[in-house]
Amino acid sequence: MIIFKHSKDLQSHLNSAMHQGVLVGFVPTMGALHEGHLSLIAQSKKKTDLTVCSIFVNAVQFNNVEDFEKYPSSVENDILLLEEAGCDILFLPSENEIYPDAASKNKQFEIGYLESILEGAFRPGHFQGVCLVVERLLNIIKPDCLFLGQKDYQQCLVIKKLISQLDRKIKVIICSILREKSGLAMSSRNLRLNEEQKNIAASLFKTLTSIKNNLGLKNFHQLKTDAIIQLEKKGFRVDYLELAKSKNLKIIEDTDKTKGVVILIAAFLNNVRLIDNVLIKD
Ligand code: AMP
Repeated sequence: MIIFKHSKDLQSHLNSAMHQGVLVGFVPTMGALHEGHLSLIAQSKKKTDLTVCSIFVNAVQFNNVEDFEKYPSSVENDILLLEEAGCDILFLPSENEIYPDAASKNKQFEIGYLESILEGAFRPGHFQGVCLVVERLLNIIKPDCLFLGQKDYQQCLVIKKLISQLDRKIKVIICSILREKSGLAMSSRNLRLNEEQKNIAASLFKTLTSIKNNLGLKNFHQLKTDAIIQLEKKGFRVDYLELAKSKNLKIIEDTDKTKGVVILIAAFLNNVRLIDNVLIKD
């Protein structure tokens, strides 16, 4: 695996590869890699000729200082994992490389409705920060395919919207959520939980699954109210638990359909904010 710290060096390497018709896959991450990230690398290796992974903890997308300061970092181990996974290129830029001047952080993106709900509502400015870094990385790497995790469902829709506004075609591939045996969605933030807390955190997926199984049988509002009471008893502080249309995240009150919807949750456990979702496929 070749490691690049400077965009110019990476670009000249990729330019010559692209001239030879090589299909480039890109997996953006914030590091502290786990099997979920590695499954994206595996997908990219399967579907493209050259896989680029980036590790950059993007301060501007954190709306909470503590969340940023405590975000886990394990670059040495990440490099080993990426090498084992057969990743071709790691882009490891500095803050200055991504944001060379103050003006480069000022751009505003038209995200619209997606910025007003769920993660957008509870994390003001978050998706603006995500768009800033993703646009910058896409301009540097110019991938053919972009691999994203369904774990960040709303982020996938935001990035798809961003790409639709660019003048370049990039295929977005959304990869399914990798989970611990307990059902807990893998996340770098899980490193901030001890074993007991991780067991409790698995209740999020159990709750989503139970709601999914009861949709159409019981009223969603009742399912949601009961679930929040149970989660609060276990020590969670729930930001949201919502049912939405999977194609556009329009929030819905209830459904008698068993497809084309997604149930999404965000909750704090021990000051660690966790998100998860289950998709009921189109
Ligand atoms: P992050 O490092 O958290 O920014 O995540 C980088 C990418 O990995 C994003 O596209 C995430 O959605 C994806 N990802 C994170 N957790 C998982 C998981 N448990 N399973 C699959 N993909 C994931």
